[in-house]
Amino acid sequence: MKSIRLITLLICLLFLMACFPFSLFKADTSEILVTEISTENSIDVESTPLTPDDASEIQPDSQNEFGESARVHLEVLAGEIGDRLAGTGNETSAAEYIQSQFEVFGYTAETQWFTAYDDYEGVSFDSSNIIAVKQGRSDKQIIVGAHYDSVNDDGSQGADDNASGVAVLLETAERVFDEETPYTIVFVAFGAEEVGLWGSANYVDELNQSEQNNIIGMVNLDSLIAGDKTYVYGNEGRGSMRDWVLENAKQKGIRIEGKTDEDLYYEDGTPCECSDFDAFEKAYIPYVFFEATNWDLSPDGMVQVDPQYGVNGEIRHTEFDTIEYIDETFPGRIEDHLNTFVTLLFDLVTQY
Ligand SMILES: [Zn+2]
Repeated sequence: MKSIRLITLLICLLFLMACFPFSLFKADTSEILVTEISTENSIDVESTPLTPDDASEIQPDSQNEFGESARVHLEVLAGEIGDRLAGTGNETSAAEYIQSQFEVFGYTAETQWFTAYDDYEGVSFDSSNIIAVKQGRSDKQIIVGAHYDSVNDDGSQGADDNASGVAVLLETAERVFDEETPYTIVFVAFGAEEVGLWGSANYVDELNQSEQNNIIGMVNLDSLIAGDKTYVYGNEGRGSMRDWVLENAKQKGIRIEGKTDEDLYYEDGTPCECSDFDAFEKAYIPYVFFEATNWDLSPDGMVQVDPQYGVNGEIRHTEFDTIEYIDETFPGRIEDHLNTFVTLLFDLVTQY
């Protein structure tokens, strides 16, 4: 009997040893599962370190607010890659990230190489435009463009200028992939803007006259998250994209102000060669240009925020152009602006 008891005790012990770690493991797994589900629903970019792979797993659906995926792209481009001076490895990393994202969304991304020349540094180098096409009911095209290079001022991440524009472009490209659009939408991430608008100039140069005539408008996205207020610029008048955006925003209760093409002119009355719409405007293609700044603070719209912040109110092209600075100085602004611009751009390309 004694030995039977001992054997029973041993069996019980073995059983407990076998069960105990199993129950621990089970508890662990369910905890992990809960965490995974909650991150999926709320894309917690504050606490989760982001990689390009993470970003590619985030799919926009009814659960995701407009602008949430854009925030993730912003974190990768500005936070992880950092400044993206044209011709450097960081510019190439950004191009590769954009291309990989287009492909994750389902597009076939095309790379258009060109040679740029930096007058200031006296060097030439290769850069590229990354292009993805969403076929619409009509073959007539709307070009949606944003430059992905940045300046490399000490400490700048090029977050506002212009990871923000690319972020809005990428989220919109993902959202429209399965939508029916009246026009064919061509998404173009331009290289080498900051050293002389090379990417957009090259894109327009490569088009023959009938291809240019086939474009009904260009949408430019540049510097969307730092400035106090949201703006849309461009050719005005009945049926213009700019006026359509303003009317749509009014109906939806979204705050955005309009400025005309002429408002952007230099003091000497010539059109401003200040962003990627320039080459399209010179080819007589109508454009709209989304930006955040504060025209109440300076006659040329260059002062983006209260002059006590940034460098006399300018964030872009300064060391203050980082996600951290903008988040700390203007809590919630990045989310608000990304939400506004993705919403307005999505409506424009699906309904105009
Ligand atoms: Zn820019």
